[in-house]
Amino acid sequence: MLSEAIRTESQGQRGPTFEVFNPANRQKIAELPIHSPQEVQEAATRLRLVQKEWASLSFKERANRLYKLRRLMLDNREKVIDVLVSENGKPRVEAAGEILYIADLIGYYAKNASKFLADQKVSLHLLKTKRAYVAFHPVGLVGVISPWNYPLILSFDDVITAMAAGNAVLLKPSEFTPLTALKMGEFASQAGLPLELVTGLGQTGSAVIDAVDLIAFTGSVSTGRKVAEHAGRLLKPALLELGGKDPMIVLKDADLDRVTDGALYAGLFNAGQTCISVERFYVEEPIYNEFVARLQTGIAKLRQGIETAGEANIELGPMTTPRQLEIVEQQVEDARAKGAKVVAGGKRRDDLPGLFYEPTILTDVTDDMLVMQEETFGPILPIIKVKDAEEAVRRANQSRFGLSSSVWTKDTSKGEVLARKIEAGSTVVNDALLAPPLAMEVPFGGIKDSGLGARHGGPDGLRAFCRKHSILVDRFQLKHEIVWYPYNKQVARGVNFVIDLLFKRGGK
Ligand code: NAD
Repeated sequence: MLSEAIRTESQGQRGPTFEVFNPANRQKIAELPIHSPQEVQEAATRLRLVQKEWASLSFKERANRLYKLRRLMLDNREKVIDVLVSENGKPRVEAAGEILYIADLIGYYAKNASKFLADQKVSLHLLKTKRAYVAFHPVGLVGVISPWNYPLILSFDDVITAMAAGNAVLLKPSEFTPLTALKMGEFASQAGLPLELVTGLGQTGSAVIDAVDLIAFTGSVSTGRKVAEHAGRLLKPALLELGGKDPMIVLKDADLDRVTDGALYAGLFNAGQTCISVERFYVEEPIYNEFVARLQTGIAKLRQGIETAGEANIELGPMTTPRQLEIVEQQVEDARAKGAKVVAGGKRRDDLPGLFYEPTILTDVTDDMLVMQEETFGPILPIIKVKDAEEAVRRANQSRFGLSSSVWTKDTSKGEVLARKIEAGSTVVNDALLAPPLAMEVPFGGIKDSGLGARHGGPDGLRAFCRKHSILVDRFQLKHEIVWYPYNKQVARGVNFVIDLLFKRGGK
């Protein structure tokens, strides 16, 4: 297998390096160091010193520095997009979407951090002699390990949230797309933010886990398990955002115009390389044929290739990694061999220099096919005909993944009833893909193999990077509490009196 993030032992003084390629034309665009465990530890030591000062700043001062990062990112928008597109291959408009998301996230937590992390007063139902509250302290040093499909969002969502909570951050971006993160790292340094980056492959990621207090990992299920095991051995908290296999349920009364356009977008955005891409379509029988026909018409109009500068003239770029192209190919071949019909696409684009795979529609798909069981992460739309909504929900839930999902119907009440039955971290009625993460106020994340539960978004998204500290204060400062030593009959009677008072027969 050709690896496009190749480890190379370089000559002379330099340590080992790896190479980064443009997936649209397979040209080498960078060669970067593989940082050693010792270099990772040294970065962690520096960051721990800086973190103390960072945590002592006011929320306002921290917000000002985050806004400075935003200003630098926005002032250099075209440069960031150039870098992102060169290493990931997505259309520029989608790269701009990553900037939009991160700019909004910075504003959201810069504005709300002081509110979300304010001490939480708690009224105690039993210990009326104490006053209590919960304080949120930064955990200290957070390690962020990120994948290649959203080089900006999936690194900087966690980086910014962790910093807004008062932490320093050590970031290890994907070896396939490290350049966007490095560019942002320059801006973060100019803005005076407590961030350092290390580059490398899995071993460098593993060293990050050793060096930090909490790990925020986004990536595949198989690496996620390794990260969880590693963090578990060290008794360190690990936040995991893993793979998906999102179902789209299309009921017979769905608006066919909206659902067809929505299906193409949610299945093919970023060439299908999104954790919340729609990867399974369950369509009620009466509209199945019409739905497939409309998808065929729509997919034929989509343009794939290398964008002409300033033209915004493609909808689909390449697969970002050679391995991903192989996975997509294998899944389509497996489906074909097991009886699926390829009614659009179905092969690599040999006419283009990069890692392109045609947007593809599969019908006559069965549950035993890899394309219905494993994450695909490619531009493949497998469609299943179902008798009714019940069958759709049952089959949607027959998956080891549970990230996001959607139901499409004009009857939104019915849609909401079905939504609640779907086993996933989020469900959208009449939309998909972008709606859950852009709704920053609600929790986002997966269940089952998709992760350890919703964690991004809202107050909990910020508090995930904090340790909770319960503080209790005695109100009356009596000389002696009645339950303290020495025990005697009076103490025993007192305890029994309280039990009877609170829980006497028939009481609730
Ligand atoms: P990956 O698991 O191969 O790699 C992710 C990161 O982990 C990389 O930086 C890699 O260098 C590092 N790594 C590898 N081995 C490691 C180890 N032993 N210890 C520590 N770090 C290690 O994932 P990928 O292929 O880069 O990304 C694609 C996957 O990410 C897909 O499965 C996708 O669904 C998932 N993803 C999930 C979400 C979500 O929010 N749930 C979002 C985007 C992507």
